[in-house]
Amino acid sequence: MQELCHWIDGKEAKGTTGRFSDVFNPATGEVIARVPLASATELAAAIDSAEKAQIGWAATNPQRRARVMMRFGQLIHDNMDMLAELVSREHGKTLPDARGDVQRGLEVIEVCMGAPALLKGEYTDNAGPGIDLYSMRQPLGVVAGITPFNFPAMIPLWKMGPALAAGNAMILKPSERVPSTSIALAKLAQEAGLPDGVLQVVNGDKEIVDAILDHPTIQAVGFVGSTPIAQYIYGRAASNGKRAQCFGGAKNHMLIMPDADLDKATDALLGAGFGAAGERCMAISVAVPVGDETADALIERLVPKIEKLKVGPYTAGDDVDFGPVITKAAQERINRLIASGVDEGAKLVVDGRDLKIQGYENGFFCGPSLFDHVTPDMEIYREEIFGPVLSSVRAKTYEDALKLVMDNDYGNGTAIYTADGDTARDFASRVNVGMVGVNFPIPVPLSYYTFGGWKKSAFGDLNQYGPDAFRFYTKTKTVTARWFSGIKDGAALNFKALD
Ligand code: NAD
Repeated sequence: MQELCHWIDGKEAKGTTGRFSDVFNPATGEVIARVPLASATELAAAIDSAEKAQIGWAATNPQRRARVMMRFGQLIHDNMDMLAELVSREHGKTLPDARGDVQRGLEVIEVCMGAPALLKGEYTDNAGPGIDLYSMRQPLGVVAGITPFNFPAMIPLWKMGPALAAGNAMILKPSERVPSTSIALAKLAQEAGLPDGVLQVVNGDKEIVDAILDHPTIQAVGFVGSTPIAQYIYGRAASNGKRAQCFGGAKNHMLIMPDADLDKATDALLGAGFGAAGERCMAISVAVPVGDETADALIERLVPKIEKLKVGPYTAGDDVDFGPVITKAAQERINRLIASGVDEGAKLVVDGRDLKIQGYENGFFCGPSLFDHVTPDMEIYREEIFGPVLSSVRAKTYEDALKLVMDNDYGNGTAIYTADGDTARDFASRVNVGMVGVNFPIPVPLSYYTFGGWKKSAFGDLNQYGPDAFRFYTKTKTVTARWFSGIKDGAALNFKALD
């Protein structure tokens, strides 16, 4: 069996703790590798080396750092198929979807090629007699990225791109379920010219995360994962004086207005509800048709299309719509939640629980499921299911539908399907959710905007990637400088204006 490594000081490093976690191929249910789980001692060695490497990297001019990003981006592009294969093998998503995972990460690296412009400071000459005032953005030092299983390439790239381009060193702690992509990316970054030590990949579980959160050298923590862990990490990092931004789970609603193009809305729900087996933080898990007529027509269109969805291993070719879920435990949890929906009175219109795929009987597959007549008190509505389960909550009016979204604890993404500009505009303006789609089901902003949810979908300040990420990974220093030619000034004991 393959034994995976950490990436420390520009080299593969075997684990020394004797603790490992199994890595599965979710399509077959087989253990394909084991990943070492690091201890605080191994982490300390990685941080020590990162701290030394960061000094030279921060002193490298931003344009040279951007050139490393340029070569890194090119290498990611050239190795797209290799990276997608790694993603699919450990995660289970289809190859076209895995390429999308790599691509959306690559796009953030592309923005990082423009880092010098994003790192510029401000300058005011003659702010007072002989006085110039300027600000500069400086890297924080050694920062950490802690990432989830569901985007093995994209989210590590969202973390490492801006942090490194800004002159930091990063300790990346990828999900122990999908560790190989991060190691492959670290190797490509080295090939692109990133100095050894600037990026360290340390694998592990809660033990290593806690060690990261408590280590005094780590200046900032960028986390993505489930809400309870996001909230925990935010609290512990902040109480240790670190900058933290922690992105959590989601329950994304899509409103379908009576005037919506129902065929387009149906197709949107298929992709956004079931793509990647529903394991996306921007997946639509709740459809909110407005009016019973809209709801009936929507269900009528959805059912035959859902029943035609093809579920299978990524190796079965491009006509597979989605693959397995990540673990046996996830599969069992999803099936349990479906049973709870039935028990609580929701109407299970399509039941995906008993899917068996010949030759892959031990894979962690869940077929697509559709619930109608779901109500907000049900567990299937309150919980983030993170599986291929779409719930329809019928709303009587637009205001009721809007209130449903507003009252939900999560605020990552939402969408509205309508032909009416005023309704769409009202929704976008009033809804308390971070990312909004108008006739667009998964509104993940492009890499030169920023990504982030509201409410329990994010803790801390500033969004991921784009200009916000450069603010998060730098601190501002402001200099007030005076030169004395022609200026007569005595001692000033009072606080006063510069003029
Ligand atoms: P997770 O919270 O289980 O794990 C995320 C990371 O935290 C992993 O690296 C894991 O090793 C670590 N971790 C897990 N338990 C921990 C603990 N008790 N203490 C310290 N660290 C711990 O999340 P996941 O299952 O890997 O990912 C799925 C979740 O991520 C979903 O809730 C999804 O909505 C969310 N997500 C959010 C976004 C976003 O940007 N808001 C993006 C992608 C995924």
